[in-house]
Amino acid sequence: MNLLAEMSWDETKEYLARDNRLILPLGATEEHGRHLGLGTDHIEAEAIALGVGEQTDVVVAPTLNYGMSHAQLGFAGTLSLRPTTLIAILEDLFRSLYRHGFRRVLVVNGHGGNTASLTSTVQTLALEFKNLRVKNFEWWTDQESYRVIIDMLGEQVGSHASPGETAFMLAVRPSAVKLDRLTGRDAPVKPSREFTTMNTFAQKYPDGIMGLDPRMATREAGEALLKKSIEICVRELENW
Ligand SMILES: [Zn+2]
Repeated sequence: MNLLAEMSWDETKEYLARDNRLILPLGATEEHGRHLGLGTDHIEAEAIALGVGEQTDVVVAPTLNYGMSHAQLGFAGTLSLRPTTLIAILEDLFRSLYRHGFRRVLVVNGHGGNTASLTSTVQTLALEFKNLRVKNFEWWTDQESYRVIIDMLGEQVGSHASPGETAFMLAVRPSAVKLDRLTGRDAPVKPSREFTTMNTFAQKYPDGIMGLDPRMATREAGEALLKKSIEICVRELENW
């Protein structure tokens, strides 16, 4: 596997002579209910990225373990970057990548709070860098991967810290899943026009879970979700 962290600059140069694709996993360090570790979003993004790296020759960059998690700052342990900070980090990373010759970047984003900053960065840099191409994969917004867990666990399973995400963690990092800490809940996410911010998140979701009772999660569903996510990303890289 081509891990940027293990490659020398010389090997990277050789890689760039034959390919200009790169996988960039983005995550977060934030609350995920009483039952999931704070690293859930970066653990998931990295699991997908490494799976894709195993099946292709495309180089995998180190994961960004922090993201924009302001809405979750009311919960102990959440470490959040300001949107402008995240934009600055992403812009600097893309500028470095472009400078070396990377032209096609597949972002594997593990956290919804990062999406707006990522979009802003890509739109801004596109004005300057004509050949920069960026794709973004998010397992919970991608219809194909989301379908896998809906089919296995039912509707309303894909939100933050709920059954879909719990299943994913049972598959990739079971030591970060503590289902015995859960108190029963069954609170589907209701559509709302109001932004979910730090002022509203903890009122709406007192234990930090958006959605149904995570105890319905299964490792099999998580494994299927991981497999499908990897398959989609591999296809996106091969058809690029
Ligand atoms: Zn998450």
